[in-house]
Amino acid sequence: MRLFKLILIGLFCTTSNVTHAMVNIFACEPEWGALAKEIGGSKVKIFSATHAKQDPHYIRARPSLIAKARKANIIFCSGAGLEVGWLPLLLQKAESSVQPGMEGHLIASKFVKVLEKPIVVDRTMGDIHPEGNPHVHLNPHNISLIAKELTKRLELIDATNASFYRNRFNSFALRWKEAIVRWEKNASDLKGMQVVVHHRTFSYLIDWLGLIEVASLELKPGIPATASHLEGLLQQFKTKPPDVIVRTPYEPGNASIWLSEKINSPAIVLPYTINGDVSSVDLFALFENSINLLKGALND
Ligand SMILES: [Zn+2]
Repeated sequence: MRLFKLILIGLFCTTSNVTHAMVNIFACEPEWGALAKEIGGSKVKIFSATHAKQDPHYIRARPSLIAKARKANIIFCSGAGLEVGWLPLLLQKAESSVQPGMEGHLIASKFVKVLEKPIVVDRTMGDIHPEGNPHVHLNPHNISLIAKELTKRLELIDATNASFYRNRFNSFALRWKEAIVRWEKNASDLKGMQVVVHHRTFSYLIDWLGLIEVASLELKPGIPATASHLEGLLQQFKTKPPDVIVRTPYEPGNASIWLSEKINSPAIVLPYTINGDVSSVDLFALFENSINLLKGALND
């Protein structure tokens, strides 16, 4: 009987690092889950720790997440401090075999140019992003770079299926490149559009499309709008209102709506990530919809 069991185990295990048929991917945010699906297809099992209505800065390392992290072969997160409040604790509690520095530990922001790196870090002012802006996924060129790195990691971790991942990457990269050309053409009239943000969640989208961020409703990243800050914005925009006020599905709308009513600029919710609205079901739709929503606001 014991020998029979050993033979069975032998049959179901591969010689690579992955001992089961599927590579378990623990994505900290839905955008990384979606990218993992593009490259990993049927060979990966994806779990996203957060959804579009959750603020990824503030997540609790609850038991269900710990259980998922324990099983992960790849941990795929934004980094640059976005998950600093929960991921290290989660990995520790899960006694995860995927630790920083290992091939299964994939931090997206390490493979792109991080924006808004502060020259002087002053945490007393409440800035929650001392490593720069971690919301790197909203520039599609960043997605290309991160997809390439993810493919490398999958090839290492699940060598048996290396050509499967390489083929899917090649197909994705081609379709993605074509989409970027289409988006950049379609969004050319958005250049110079003046945008007020809630938190600096859209900096990469703003940078990519050549928009201008004129103000943030938060006093500092992580510090909610104060009455005096909002009064100041009201004065600032009295003579020249911005084109749009944007926020994510998880950010509170009260400050956006208040300012919108006072200065008569549209306040809109951009999907921000996968399933941030009903039609943003994958990365392609996420960018498509974000551009169309901005264009709609500009023509309002
Ligand atoms: Zn942030």
